[in-house]
Amino acid sequence: MTLQSPGQSPVQFPFDNSYARLPDRFFARVAPTPVDAPRLVRLNRDLALALRLDPDWLASPQGVEILAGKRVPDEAEPIAMAYAGHQFGQFVPQLGDGRAVLLGEVIDREGVRRDIQLKGSGPTPFSRRGDGRAAVGPVLREYVVSEAMAKLGIPTTRALAAVTTGETVVRERFLPGAVLTRVASSHVRVGTFEFFAARGDTEGVRLLADHVIARHYPQAAESERPYRALLDAVGARQAELVAQWLLVGFIHGVMNTDNMSIAGETIDYGPCAFMDTYDPATVFSSIDHAGRYAYANQPRIAQWNLTRLAETLLPLLDEDDSRAIAEAQEALSGFATRIDAAYHAGMRRKLGLATERDGDIALEQDLLKAMAENQADFTLTFRRLSDAAAGPAGDEAVRRLFADPTAYDAWAARWRQRLADEPQDGAARQAAMRAVNPAFIPRNHRVEAVIEAAVERDDFGPFEELLTVLSKPYEDQPAFAPYADPPEPHERVLRTFCGT
Ligand code: AMP
Ligand code: MG
Repeated sequence: MTLQSPGQSPVQFPFDNSYARLPDRFFARVAPTPVDAPRLVRLNRDLALALRLDPDWLASPQGVEILAGKRVPDEAEPIAMAYAGHQFGQFVPQLGDGRAVLLGEVIDREGVRRDIQLKGSGPTPFSRRGDGRAAVGPVLREYVVSEAMAKLGIPTTRALAAVTTGETVVRERFLPGAVLTRVASSHVRVGTFEFFAARGDTEGVRLLADHVIARHYPQAAESERPYRALLDAVGARQAELVAQWLLVGFIHGVMNTDNMSIAGETIDYGPCAFMDTYDPATVFSSIDHAGRYAYANQPRIAQWNLTRLAETLLPLLDEDDSRAIAEAQEALSGFATRIDAAYHAGMRRKLGLATERDGDIALEQDLLKAMAENQADFTLTFRRLSDAAAGPAGDEAVRRLFADPTAYDAWAARWRQRLADEPQDGAARQAAMRAVNPAFIPRNHRVEAVIEAAVERDDFGPFEELLTVLSKPYEDQPAFAPYADPPEPHERVLRTFCGT
């Protein structure tokens, strides 16, 4: 990339923008709106290096101007992507990037094409009544939670940088404005397919499907029925993803079809949160009154969303309507089984079971039931169970998490009996369990405290520290032990708000 202003030394920002080469109706060309006084809050240097970008240059005044949308790199072709979506079950034919622009795509060190997008970068033709901006709170939340997800090993968009804009955004109150630089393996959503399907633009659906196959699912191109293979592959990744959410207690909060990535990454961190005490009905989002997106509903909703995707693909699946429907149904029917299988396989790992036996699911379900009845903390129960796996000396720390500790005792006796059938010794089992049961998750009260410090005191120290802790979620980190603790009753944060 060469900077636009004269007199600067040229810097490489090797964009190659495949989405911007699609037809005009896929997006609107729009530059970010310049801001007053950009200030770098945080640059993700490791991610910059993985993207083959120079972190020192990105942190320089010119780099920060780009990250704030004040300056556009020469090779960038900024666009706002068009998409539609079902929001809480209601179809909205046009949503689109209303507060984000895709600067371009780079090829990372592993040869993977990555989108670089500015979120909060000003109005676009898709802004509707919105201001196109983001407040610092939601930007920090997305930064923290998406990076925590990455370190937990769960597919997700990433955060390359957060900057404040020096401007104020108006929400329920005045708040500092900010821009997040988001990196994704693409920003194509189920809602992107719906955008074209709703317009009867089958050619658009086909072009999009071909783009997605080339970019994310090249093996589908080899198939005799590439679009069926695409649907199967998206379903497989989505099943794996949602199972992983469940296994760490993550609640996305707004699983609208426009927030479901075709590439199977967690995307659009709005009112998301991790649960503390285990309760399958947990909802954090202030706008999810009916609990549509509650923790335990997530598999069903993923299937609902995948069904919307299948509908858009019908004309490509077969010229004959009823044969197309049969294809779609066949693809969808495998989904529930797949997600269940991924979830139970993950639960076996969490319980230290390397082999599979009849009765494992009952063992797992009975633990969860006892946890729910006894308000046991989800994350700590499994983490401490990892140590109990080495021997009964570890039991006391687990049982303390249950309102009635004897509920754990009864279950633990069965668990130990089952472990006796396992080939691993206690130490190996403990190590395997500690590698899948994190000590540290972005607990909601910690995330809120980070946001409060930034908004009320312009203090980003707590943000930095939380990121440090969450960068090693599977290590004990004694110096940060309190970060593993659940909130005290007065610290509990039960509601989260959207980023808008
Ligand atoms: P989200 O809730 O982030 O998934 O966004 C849903 C839709 O609202 C998307 O089309 C966004 O681009 C749009 N949107 C959200 N916030 C804003 C904003 N502040 N200004 C303009 N559009 C917005
Ligand atoms: Mg969204």
